[in-house]
Amino acid sequence: MVKNNPQMPGIPSDLRRVHRSLVLRNVFAVPRGSRTQLAEETGLSAMAITRIIRELIDAGLVEEVSKRNRNGSPGRRQVDLRICPSGAYVVGVVISAFGHEVALFDATGGLLDRRKMSFKSIRTANEAVEVASSTILSIIADAGVDAERVLGIGIAIAAFVKTATGTVTKAPYLGWQEVELGQRIRSRTGLPVTVENIADAMNVAEQAKGAAAGREDVFLAHQSVTCGASYTHHGQLVRGANFSAGQIGHLPVGESALVCSCGDNRCFNAHTSGWSVLANLGRIDSQRFETGEIESYARALTQLIGENPAPGTAAGDALYRAGYQFGRTMQNVALIIDPHAIVLAGKLSESPAYVSGCESAWRDAPAKLGYRPPELIIGRVPAIRAAGILALDSFLYSPQLDIEGLTDGAATGGREAAR
Ligand SMILES: [Zn+2]
Repeated sequence: MVKNNPQMPGIPSDLRRVHRSLVLRNVFAVPRGSRTQLAEETGLSAMAITRIIRELIDAGLVEEVSKRNRNGSPGRRQVDLRICPSGAYVVGVVISAFGHEVALFDATGGLLDRRKMSFKSIRTANEAVEVASSTILSIIADAGVDAERVLGIGIAIAAFVKTATGTVTKAPYLGWQEVELGQRIRSRTGLPVTVENIADAMNVAEQAKGAAAGREDVFLAHQSVTCGASYTHHGQLVRGANFSAGQIGHLPVGESALVCSCGDNRCFNAHTSGWSVLANLGRIDSQRFETGEIESYARALTQLIGENPAPGTAAGDALYRAGYQFGRTMQNVALIIDPHAIVLAGKLSESPAYVSGCESAWRDAPAKLGYRPPELIIGRVPAIRAAGILALDSFLYSPQLDIEGLTDGAATGGREAAR
């Protein structure tokens, strides 16, 4: 799981909290592990593990299950441990050109409910804050879960974000600038909020519960209407000096007949994005990217990928070519940062033709003496689930977890109410 939280403010340095989150993460990562395994994997003493597990059980977060009989041999009584789904809940929110959604998840990342949001105009931040906050409050109330156990909200948004404060610094699609989104939703809902760019949220999620589990140096390309990226080094998100790392969409890769939103016709966006495929196929009118048209581009791209065009058709070949060029460029990126894996995520990762182009580029790459290319992984965590996992990562599997609050709740019957 991405060690996302050490960079956030207000992290208690209390070692107990750090050890507790380490244990909790391990129980989450290895379902039905034992105390002995936990001690081996965390390096903590058996006594420390026993104490921490006791706390987690008292707080209703971990439960014991009788051990599976692996070989039938009698031995000391042992029990497996697992996360108790009703021990905690989080809310995930997605705000993107493909739609706006709120979902409620349990402590294991299980989806309990999801709702679409609609806005008169997404370009009005006030309306977005109001609609999102009231949808969050109603999804929690309607699910009948113990509100005391809802730990926080994860927002994955198509924007550049100053994560420490939850401030959207700029969002060309939304037209927002310096919107204190996290702060405002927190004050409306009373819940802590973490906000990330969609690509960063997906990178966190792919490493926690997705196709990139176990890797720590991961470059995730978010290929949708436009192209964006996220990079984690040693499990930490690399955000850049101005919180705008990962703008691969504007990487110059060669002349094109299409003009990117930035005015340049050499951008990666003009060769490998969903918008470029739509423009090359004549499915949209303009050869120039029109920011105001992003939602119509998103609808056209959803339509195109839903058709699943076969190889040999104009659409199938256009997707394949864009995927191939994407793969070629990712090999150059890999030479610079040497990641364990490159993850292809976003709407285009759902297109077999695009994926096939990318995989061909990987196969066709000439071997370089002494160089080991990274693994190519096709992402599998949808944006709304990524937002939920982001919230779990920030508020439950984190030193920020307020276990005292949960233990009090358990003592007064909160656990029963959570059922
Ligand atoms: Zn550009």
